[in-house]
Amino acid sequence: MQESSPATQLQQAALLQNPGPSAQLTVQDHPVAYPGPGEVLVKLTHSGICGSELRALHGWGKYDEIIGHEGVGSIVKLGDGVPTGMLGKRVGVKWLYRSCGECATCQRGFVHICPQQMNTGRSCPGTLQQFVVADSRHLTEIPDTLTGEIAAPLLCAGLTMMGAIGQLPEDVVAGDWLVIIGSGGGLGHIGVQIAAKAKGFKVIAVDTGASKRSISLDSGATAFVDYATQDVAAEVKNLTGEGAAAVIVVSDSEQGFRLSAHIARPLGTILLVGLPPESLDLPISVMMSIRKGLTIKGVLVGSEEQMREVLQYAVDGIVKPSVEVLKLAQVGLAIDRLRKWDIPGRIVIALPE
Ligand SMILES: [Zn+2]
Ligand SMILES: [Zn+2]
Repeated sequence: MQESSPATQLQQAALLQNPGPSAQLTVQDHPVAYPGPGEVLVKLTHSGICGSELRALHGWGKYDEIIGHEGVGSIVKLGDGVPTGMLGKRVGVKWLYRSCGECATCQRGFVHICPQQMNTGRSCPGTLQQFVVADSRHLTEIPDTLTGEIAAPLLCAGLTMMGAIGQLPEDVVAGDWLVIIGSGGGLGHIGVQIAAKAKGFKVIAVDTGASKRSISLDSGATAFVDYATQDVAAEVKNLTGEGAAAVIVVSDSEQGFRLSAHIARPLGTILLVGLPPESLDLPISVMMSIRKGLTIKGVLVGSEEQMREVLQYAVDGIVKPSVEVLKLAQVGLAIDRLRKWDIPGRIVIALPE
């Protein structure tokens, strides 16, 4: 990279305009940012498009004009105080841009839950651009054997599902039934792979349509239930008898959350992953939760240790995200399909060289 002034160096970036019903992403020339103390500049090769970007598109909350939080690339410039050995390293840029490191939650080791955290694509510019600034302390080194397009979806989708499965109680063991609602999307299908292939659970995949069905079954699900044409509660009961040991709700729909308590077994666990509008309160029956002794937990991404674990599953061939690679110029198309939930697996944007 040339040592030119950051204000004069331009790159291509996808900029979010008019969040709401007429939201658009347009590719434009945009200045390359300069890394501050503790930060690095990463030249990205790939960026995944997460389902949670729908929140930015809908205008649910305040996001940066450059969204994206699944970036893979190489470090090309170091800010003050960053060890020189990091130059040239191939890294992943994730949702957690920075945590405060000082609050009680950080001190307990849960930096990804820090209430003061900054996030890539929300409070700082995201990964749908050629060059992104990242905090050197929250990067993940990417194993050489993983391509950028395979590694990218693991940085949020893979990490989040690893984080969810890591929250299951110890009495949920290999051979137990697990339901994943929203099994055919970016997070869902990786979750099916981790749950079925790495952990040995019997997975009931819930989604709709032929393509989501095949990706769910290919990912290792024991059964697929189409919520649009089948009675999910009845099918789960037929398969499991007493209900599922755990239900992971990856979909953001109210129906998905409501359904979860009906299909969990007594003393079952419900893990909330999908991101609905802020206004949605939990539509789960209190009396049913009490009678069944349910545990309900929220999941926000996962720890760096869980990040390394899911990358290792990918290196070992146990987890393999199903990806469709598009060019940055096609990002508008990707967003249109995301709006219709018409993406089996993950779309990954290959950034211009
Ligand atoms: Zn995400
Ligand atoms: Zn903190």
